[in-house]
Amino acid sequence: METTIRKSLLYKSGVGVFCINHVQGCSHGCRYPCYAYMMAQSYGRVATYADWCQSKLVANAAELLTKELAHKKVKPGSIHLCLSTDPFMNGYPEVTEMSLKLMDIINSFGIRCSILTKGKLPAELADLKRFSVNNLYGISLISLNEEFRKRWEPGAAPYAERISALRCIHDSGLQTLVHIEPYPTPNLLKQNLEDILEAVGFVDHLYFSGWNYNVQVKQFQNYQQFYSDQTRLAQHFCKEHGIAFNC
Ligand code: SF4
Repeated sequence: METTIRKSLLYKSGVGVFCINHVQGCSHGCRYPCYAYMMAQSYGRVATYADWCQSKLVANAAELLTKELAHKKVKPGSIHLCLSTDPFMNGYPEVTEMSLKLMDIINSFGIRCSILTKGKLPAELADLKRFSVNNLYGISLISLNEEFRKRWEPGAAPYAERISALRCIHDSGLQTLVHIEPYPTPNLLKQNLEDILEAVGFVDHLYFSGWNYNVQVKQFQNYQQFYSDQTRLAQHFCKEHGIAFNC
């Protein structure tokens, strides 16, 4: 994997969340399209989709993060990995290794990590001598259909592997989250939301939202009604299963 050097790592996002992105680009290559890819392209950081998928690891991420956290008088309560790449990029053990190292640093400052991935959460995360029990571990999951996954999230981990890794983390007594977004309208994929909810019914937190940045969604008649029905269904499921719900 290629590497790059940065001048800074930790930042506060537009939605007020502290975040690090220690990889430039993302080999998962989601075609919704990926908002982070569109931003990188518009700011001239990548030229093409192929460049985006040819991700580069930030080689000096650990040194930067240690320095930045040490200099912060008021430490953030939580740091998110990641908003514009994936911390457990499928097929890239060097990204996983770096993510674990950075989480170790964050937790050593008494700061909680929140994780969101379309990869496989590694079993090492259950090591409570190394990582904080307060961390939150999440996966993105919008379907159980592998053909759909190959079309829209070509480089990401198969859905069943994401779920089983999340289940292991849950079984270790840690906090888990499933992020169901961007949920497809039936003209993109006919599926039953209840099947997905049942598959992840063990989680502590669930987020549900529709599909933005794609005109095909609006071609589905009554897409707004569809999303409001699906939101209600997810909310009802969460209430019945004691899962914290957000949309
Ligand atoms: S996993 Fe996230 S950052 Fe990576 S391509 Fe998909 S949406 Fe973009």
